[in-house]
Amino acid sequence: MYYKEPLAVVWLKRDLRLQDNEAIYNAINTGKRVLLLYVFEDFLLKDPHYETRHWNFIKESIADLNQLLLPYNSKVLAVHSEVAAVLNQLLQHYEIRDLFSHQETGLLCTYHRDQKIIRYCHNNFITWKENIWNGVLRGLKNRRGWVGKWKNYMNASVFPFHPKNQLLTIHEIEELEKQFSVMDLATPEQNSIQKGGVTEALKYEKSFFEERYLNYNKGISKPKIAVESCSRLSPYLAWGNLSTRQVWQALKAIRHHSKNKKDLDAFAARLKWQAHFIQKFEMEHTMENASINKGYRMLKKTISEQYQIAWQTGQTGIPMIDACMRCLNETGYLNFRMRAMIVSFFTHMLWQPWQDCAVYLSKMFIDFEPGIHFAQVQMQAGETGVNTLRIYNPIKNGYEHDSNADFIRKWVPELAHLQTKHIHEPYLMTPLEQGLYHLKLGTDYPLPIIDLKQKRNRASKILWEMKHDPLVMEENERILDRHVIQPKPLNDAV
Ligand SMILES: Cc1cc2nc3c(=O)[nH]c(=O)nc-3n(C[C@H](O)[C@H](O)[C@H](O)COP(=O)(O)OP(=O)(O)OC[C@H]3O[C@@H](n4cnc5c(N)ncnc54)[C@H](O)[C@@H]3O)c2cc1C
Repeated sequence: MYYKEPLAVVWLKRDLRLQDNEAIYNAINTGKRVLLLYVFEDFLLKDPHYETRHWNFIKESIADLNQLLLPYNSKVLAVHSEVAAVLNQLLQHYEIRDLFSHQETGLLCTYHRDQKIIRYCHNNFITWKENIWNGVLRGLKNRRGWVGKWKNYMNASVFPFHPKNQLLTIHEIEELEKQFSVMDLATPEQNSIQKGGVTEALKYEKSFFEERYLNYNKGISKPKIAVESCSRLSPYLAWGNLSTRQVWQALKAIRHHSKNKKDLDAFAARLKWQAHFIQKFEMEHTMENASINKGYRMLKKTISEQYQIAWQTGQTGIPMIDACMRCLNETGYLNFRMRAMIVSFFTHMLWQPWQDCAVYLSKMFIDFEPGIHFAQVQMQAGETGVNTLRIYNPIKNGYEHDSNADFIRKWVPELAHLQTKHIHEPYLMTPLEQGLYHLKLGTDYPLPIIDLKQKRNRASKILWEMKHDPLVMEENERILDRHVIQPKPLNDAV
């Protein structure tokens, strides 16, 4: 038997960064040689929640890591395979006793995969050490004391990246690559979807804390302004180009000098919501497919393919909804309020099951984060029982948050030439007005596919009645006991 060099393997998941990466830090601390590994797993590549845009973001993140690793003469081994198969292959060359990764609060299919990896590691005498991800804790029964623990985690020192000539060299990794199906990291030039990588993430963070945050509260609900005044850090947090702790600590440093603490505190509160929602999903994983409040599982809706396609493609005849859907399809981004509104339209007005819009939106949101996503979709669908039922009126939201209709003009160009008084409700135009503007409704732009008022009343009546259902009420108690954290004033956020 020949000597095999000991190797610590870091399995990168949603932590595509070098700084404040506990898995990398722990691997380096073993004193062994270290390999950074990313596996493009077939079952995830085929999963309906993911789309090419996500894989491109990940490829860009790895390509960027490779640039950052150049001074260390190393790179990431990025292969298309299954994790156990890669470890098996690596075991031919190295003695592997340690596998490091973060704890993943992900889709059910990743949980099943993790179960397999636990068995694989056990059978092969490998210790798999999983570290906490962004303050989300495993095995909690309720939230008592959670905020304090989250704060301690956010305020603790970040994990530095100081390898001591331990990383496998580029040459060694290129030799290994010959035995795998290596992933081509090239991505098409896209202008409209945020690009992945630590370098990009830091640019967004810098511009936000230097200037953009000054309009945070003012712009947060307005789809055109929010593109600039919100941080746009969500994909970088979701894929781990930055840790929440890094952003939290940068925020604290800025807040110290800032005269604009209100905007920073509103942003800080949302950073806390990020972990809050993911913690909820960690403790309630069935939320991916079923309403958290079991009482709402009896709600049956008839699927309309025609409605769903009109919504997906931005052809509902309601300009604000169509603008949002077209913007999302092209850019992968929408601000919070508009996300809530399109879910409300789908589940309340079109009366379609939230599960269908959750899958479509996860594919479109470049920041798809299962923990936030399923909880938010259910909340906006009004199926949690514990949150206020909000049925968004897309016309009112248009007048209030896109008052000059700039956003609609940009994304629904067939209406761009209309006067603002017509653009939010083109279906009110008389045939004479349509003639004047050379716009034939039903041909150049669809007539509304539903009667908003009538559908709103139906949804409101059914959902309000359900609030009094004994199972819904019993479940409310359970959810509140398990998931509610003590409310904190916003100015206590940092
Ligand atoms: C139906 C629906 C689905 C959503 N799905 C996702 C998702 O898959 N991934 C995701 O990151 N966000 C999701 N959100 C939350 C929110 O809309 C986005 O985080 C935010 O719009 C991203 O833009 P930003 O980075 O500029 O946010 P900012 O306003 O700058 O907020 C900073 C960070 O705080 C976190 N955050 C902000 N708002 C929320 C919130 N309401 N709940 C939890 N965390 C929040 C995000 O990490 C965000 O990057 C969803 C919201 C809704 C209504």
